[in-house]
Amino acid sequence: MGSTRTAGGPNTTRLRHFVQQLATLVERGLPEADTLSQGTTLLAALVAHDDWLPDAYTQPNPERYQQYLLHADALGRFSVVSFVWGPGQATPIHDHTVWGLIGMLRGAEDSQAYARTPDGRWAPQGAPLRLHPGLVEAVSPSIGDVHRVSNAWEGQTSISIHVYGANIGAVQRSVYLEDGAKKPFISGYSNTTLPNLWDLSRNPATAA
Ligand code: FE
Repeated sequence: MGSTRTAGGPNTTRLRHFVQQLATLVERGLPEADTLSQGTTLLAALVAHDDWLPDAYTQPNPERYQQYLLHADALGRFSVVSFVWGPGQATPIHDHTVWGLIGMLRGAEDSQAYARTPDGRWAPQGAPLRLHPGLVEAVSPSIGDVHRVSNAWEGQTSISIHVYGANIGAVQRSVYLEDGAKKPFISGYSNTTLPNLWDLSRNPATAA
């Protein structure tokens, strides 16, 4: 039963198991590199299937890319967010200030890393990384934290699942202009209600 859609809507088992495994992982308090490596394995398993994200968290907005909170750890140790990119949408150059993992679920996106030049500007660093479904990218202040992300497709919606080492919608971060200017921002979330991962009444035998 666990891997198929139910008549009542998408199966939330995959996402519930993922957040349970993440909670176990962050509880171990490992060095960041180990959290990223083991978190990558968990997120890759989640985005290896595209049968679990409820439609409400897949909706693009013509004005700007959407950030739907799917789960926030009660202790603020991590959050899981569905990023929905309409055709041609992109972020500004920005940082995260905490570790992050980006797993591609549907469509494709390009992540372009940026580095500071000696005169204080921001310049693209290397070629953009194209993420296809099933692939995971990591960011953090210790491995490279500044990038610009865009929907790789001009004509279709793309969706990636992001995990951060904090309640990311509440974190004070920065966006950057190529001339070096820096503006503070807090990303917030596009949704006011979250998917219900915890109603196990229809299938109590697989409750965990
Ligand atoms: Fe980012």
